[in-house]
Amino acid sequence: MEKPPPGHYIVAIDGVSGSGKSSTAKTVAARLGILHLDTGAMYRAVTFLALEKGFSPVQTVEIADMVEGLDWHADAKGKLTVDGRDLSGNIRTSAVTAAVSDYARIPEVRHALVPVQRRIGMRQPAVVEGRDMATVVFPDARFKFFMDASPEVRAERRVRELVSMNLPGDYAEVLKNLSERDSKDSGREHSPLVLAPDAEVIDTSGLTFEGQVAIIVDHVLKSLPSLTK
Ligand code: C5P
Repeated sequence: MEKPPPGHYIVAIDGVSGSGKSSTAKTVAARLGILHLDTGAMYRAVTFLALEKGFSPVQTVEIADMVEGLDWHADAKGKLTVDGRDLSGNIRTSAVTAAVSDYARIPEVRHALVPVQRRIGMRQPAVVEGRDMATVVFPDARFKFFMDASPEVRAERRVRELVSMNLPGDYAEVLKNLSERDSKDSGREHSPLVLAPDAEVIDTSGLTFEGQVAIIVDHVLKSLPSLTK
């Protein structure tokens, strides 16, 4: 792994689907003034591109070939482009959400994405979020958190998020997709979603958004007093 610059640190946030990781990670990164890397967005982008080419998850040779050839770029805030395309408007659809766990479990996909995630995360302090940040991608991260929440709370939040993006949000369908992704992401052979033994668990079911952001930001600032000056 590339040697990080002095003062570099990683805040790794893993957790179940819809636990509020992405919005929390984004706000934590903005408050700390560091990069935010959403690795779920990378797996979603691969899924979108595979669906665009008509590759089913069993076409692992074609998918591996496609993923190896992708050129990822993250700007100073972590905004991603792949082969020069900003796919942020394409990767939250229900088609991508329903399929992503089936593509993310392909070892060749993980094999291609993990080095890119490390390259982006090691060049400057970063909040990195996903399923295997604290366990596989950045096992030496200085700060590790695991976000959880009840399935019902998560489904309600995801519906609100979809509606705010003018996408259809059906509670029963969202709840079903969340539980399916939980079991696929936790049950897969490669890099399953597991709690790192040294991660702090944050159950967001009864927390406000500000509350969950504050837990992480306060923790980091306490350990890195130079940041508060
Ligand atoms: O975080 P988000 O829900 O957008 O992630 C979408 C999917 O991408 C997850 O359900 C999981 O299958 C996959 N993923 C992963 N490893 C990561 C991040 C996401 O397998 N580090």
